[in-house]
Amino acid sequence: MKTLKDYNFKNKKAIIRVDFNVPLNEKLEVTDATRIQAAKSTIIDILEQGGSCVLMSHLGRPKGFQEEFSLRHIVKSVVDVIGCNVKFVADCVGAKVEEAVANLEAGEILLLENLRFYEEEEKGAISFAEKLSKFGDIYVNDAFGTAHRAHASTTIIAQFFEGNKCFGNLLAREIESIDKVLNNSEKPVLAILGGAKVSSKITVIENILDKVDHLIIGGGMSFTFIKAQGGKIGNSICEDDKMELALDILKQAKAKNVQIHIPVDVIAADDFSNDANTQICNINAIPDGWEGVDAGPKSQEIFDTVVNQCKTILWNGPLGVFEMESFAGGTIALGHSIDKATKKGAFSLVGGGDSVAAVKQFGFAEKVSYVSTGGGAMLEMLEGKTLPGIEAILK
Ligand code: AMP
Repeated sequence: MKTLKDYNFKNKKAIIRVDFNVPLNEKLEVTDATRIQAAKSTIIDILEQGGSCVLMSHLGRPKGFQEEFSLRHIVKSVVDVIGCNVKFVADCVGAKVEEAVANLEAGEILLLENLRFYEEEEKGAISFAEKLSKFGDIYVNDAFGTAHRAHASTTIIAQFFEGNKCFGNLLAREIESIDKVLNNSEKPVLAILGGAKVSSKITVIENILDKVDHLIIGGGMSFTFIKAQGGKIGNSICEDDKMELALDILKQAKAKNVQIHIPVDVIAADDFSNDANTQICNINAIPDGWEGVDAGPKSQEIFDTVVNQCKTILWNGPLGVFEMESFAGGTIALGHSIDKATKKGAFSLVGGGDSVAAVKQFGFAEKVSYVSTGGGAMLEMLEGKTLPGIEAILK
């Protein structure tokens, strides 16, 4: 696996695919610079060696040129985070860019305009990728968030850098962290899958059954498993058409010697709102008119015991409707359990959309071993897929 360490960037131009797809407010100001922060180490390493950085990224889903999606709006944030001057060019291909790149000196940063102003980017057009490839001596991919897309700047471009391409520090760390969970893990290995739907996680569950010793199935997903086994789930969310699949997953787990843990009790609410009336009930005896919205106290205790006996922990998906304060208790308790296990030496990886939001919101981001920056990309890796952006560097 080629990384920054394999190259000397002195007097070289690095063309770096970063993921600066950051949220902007109505005034077009960056509201969360985490993704810019995540690319900092790669940029600094290259500048310190005496190289220069040409940064390319997408922002949002523009249809052709749309001013509100211009990367011009994020320049100030990039300057603040990286701590040095950043030049900006109002295009990502063409004469203006050629000139800006030609004038770029060692130690300087140039940010190109939004790649998705050209439909060729998402189409993975070879000619567009070739144009981009002229702007660097070495191609560095540091955008995990788009590594599952075969776009021009994430994948296709790599073919023009035979022997001159590598992973940036962020992408390398993402790959190593997932590898540490899926392939080089210290046992016992635990995966915790929560969130709303079984259907969105089936392939992950099936792939992961070969890798783990324990699997916690929590959140809204668990009710499909409970109903499939004859439990009464009241008005809890359930995918009736996935009940057979749930039973099959339980069978497969048994055959593979994976211990499955599903909540035994829940916080049930009489309304899907923060100030609903609540009661604790057994998960398979939820009264009609009530729905399970969070893991109950007994479940939290059981999960704590499981988490604390494991050496490798993967967490994807909340254990309840954590966006509502009243139903965040199970997710917070799990965060504390993982924190404890991590302090005792376990490796803990959190990733995939909502669980990242949850660990940040409840202050666990610094307490787990690694928080992944890629939602869809992380899920696809957990499904066992090789991501095109990663494969293109390895080729
Ligand atoms: P996912 O994107 O599949 O990881 O699902 C995350 C969403 O699942 C969050 O918005 C949670 O509010 C939701 N969720 C978790 N537990 C439940 C539950 N018991 N009932 C309804 N939604 C839930």
